[in-house]
Amino acid sequence: MDVITTVSEMQRRADALRAAGTRLALVPTMGALHEGHLALVSRARDAAGHVTVSIFVNPTQFVAGEDLARYPRPVDEDLRKLREAGVDTVFLPDESAMYPDRERGQRTWVLTDQLDRYLCGAFRDGHFRGVTTVVTKLVNACKPHVTVFGLKDAQQFVIIRRMFFDLNVDVEIIGVPTYRDPDGLAASSRNVYLTPAQRAEAPALYRALTATRAAIEAGERDAAALRRALVDRLEAVPGARVQYAEIVDAEVLQPVERLQAGVDVLVAVAVFFGATRLIDNVFVTPPAG
Ligand code: AMP
Repeated sequence: MDVITTVSEMQRRADALRAAGTRLALVPTMGALHEGHLALVSRARDAAGHVTVSIFVNPTQFVAGEDLARYPRPVDEDLRKLREAGVDTVFLPDESAMYPDRERGQRTWVLTDQLDRYLCGAFRDGHFRGVTTVVTKLVNACKPHVTVFGLKDAQQFVIIRRMFFDLNVDVEIIGVPTYRDPDGLAASSRNVYLTPAQRAEAPALYRALTATRAAIEAGERDAAALRRALVDRLEAVPGARVQYAEIVDAEVLQPVERLQAGVDVLVAVAVFFGATRLIDNVFVTPPAG
């Protein structure tokens, strides 16, 4: 497994592999790797002959007051996990490799329209601008044929898929279902911040989401009623503070009023346990009848 730290060397490597006819996959991450990330790696190995994982804690997607400085960075352990998972290349740039003109600042950004107004975007102003910009930079550095993202970050997935489509980015995107611990909690690099008591309560998020899914599958079409029941469930969880709980169209991410048979919705929540913010979601197709 090779570890590459500069954009120019990464591009040279990708050019050589492409010239040899190799199909390249990229799995972008911020490190602190867990089973969820490894599920993406495994999917990438099925999709391509050469798998690159990038590890970069992207400063431009952290908004004021967020956990950039204390974000976990266990690099040696991450490299060991990736080696064991059979990854071919790790792209591990530092901040100056990715943002070389820090002093004068970034003068070009990739912006999404509308899609960042809802869900996390309503509370993390500028976050998705950082995500779309860094993903564009990573794609231009690693030159993949296919990228693999987790559906745990559903809004991020929808935005990047739409960015590739709108900008004619010639890269395929694969979404991988959320990897969960046996009790239902979605694996997350931020779970390490939870106290044992918070960790014990956290699976309630997924239970609340599955209850909403069951209500939709049983025929409930009134989004306000679904949302009220979802919020009530989350607010009953000891130590939980609900930031949002929404039922939105799965493509345009706008809140819906009445669900329609066959039109997918995304049920998404963000909940604080102390200072730790957890997100989770389910996609649901309302049945006919
Ligand atoms: P992060 O390192 O948190 O930026 O995540 C890197 C990638 O891993 C993103 O595409 C995430 O959606 C994905 N990911 C994070 N947690 C999970 C999970 N529990 N299951 C599946 N994918 C995940």
